[in-house]
Amino acid sequence: MKLDRIFIFFILLLLGILFYWVCYLGYNQESYRKQQTQTTDPSIVKNILMSEEKHKNLGLQSSPGFLYSQPSLLVGRTDVVSVTPWLAPIVWEGTFDSSLIDSMYKKKNITIATTVFALGKYTRFLKEFLESAEQHYFVGYRVRYYLFTDRPEEVPEIKLGEEHYLTILKVPSMDRWQDISMGRMEILEKLTKSELASEADYIFCLDVDAKFYGPWGVETLGRLVAVIHPWFYGYPRDQFTYERRPESQAFIPAGEGDYYYTAAAFGGTFKEVHELTKYCREQQSIDASKATEAIWHDESHLNKYLLYNKPSKLLSPEYLWRDISMRTSQVKVIRLSHVAKNNEEVRQNA
Ligand code: UDP
Ligand code: MN
Repeated sequence: MKLDRIFIFFILLLLGILFYWVCYLGYNQESYRKQQTQTTDPSIVKNILMSEEKHKNLGLQSSPGFLYSQPSLLVGRTDVVSVTPWLAPIVWEGTFDSSLIDSMYKKKNITIATTVFALGKYTRFLKEFLESAEQHYFVGYRVRYYLFTDRPEEVPEIKLGEEHYLTILKVPSMDRWQDISMGRMEILEKLTKSELASEADYIFCLDVDAKFYGPWGVETLGRLVAVIHPWFYGYPRDQFTYERRPESQAFIPAGEGDYYYTAAAFGGTFKEVHELTKYCREQQSIDASKATEAIWHDESHLNKYLLYNKPSKLLSPEYLWRDISMRTSQVKVIRLSHVAKNNEEVRQNA
């Protein structure tokens, strides 16, 4: 009788342990399942995908099996400097492999916004500018041109390449060419803040009195991209035409300065170009309130900004030459060049 009771006690104990074990397992499986459902929650998946997308946009990936010339540490351009003292590349022909860069950017599905202003008689430059751009400028990539003009009826019909789009935006006319040139900063400041900013990854702001002669591609892309002015690239800094009068906001003291940059071409990400254009617009209006105007207008302020906010990439004068300049041996390819123009004839007030 006593043995029977002990036996039943043990059976009950065993059943208890078994019951506890089954419950414990079940709980664990439940929480495991919960974890699984949590990671497949659509909002989380979306976030992960978005951050992967962002990551993809930051890094450049090359493909296994894609062959290109071996990069050398010993052989390269020696007639020009291709890096700044703050280690930003200066892009010259022969410093990059366009087939390699293209193969990496082609995967990224990028859009390049490009602004151009044509007010007054400057609409005459549009045909050559756009037609030549369509032959050389980001061919094979999505490009959105934003054309600001006071004469939309004078915009020529240009056949645009695949995935190249043109938006015409009407702006009020202005009398002084200096105001037109400086006024670009305020319009660009607004454009880079608008919802259009989400439609593109990079932006370039270009003068319209220019023509493309050679390829301008993804080697030019970067966070903040400045172009060396074709006049002064061999000059000592004290001969640059920086603003030298302390009464202007664009003042740069003697002894300071890196390079002389052109205002006819600059670019980068929307955030960086927004900061730059906002700065120039602000400084221009402080000057105006004191009846001051910087010697080279927007270009003087741009140079001051870029002196203290170092560009992450510089484009050599290949990227903005002048038709009237003599060729030099350093410039092996002319990509974009200012056309010859009669300032007195094209400018409203000259
Ligand atoms: N611009 C314009 N109409 C004018 C004057 C200037 O549309 O009457 C625009 C145009 O985009 C031009 C830019 O402002 O390329 C800069 O002016 P400009 O080319 O005359 O300056 P420069 O390159 O001669 O210093
Ligand atoms: Mn110009």
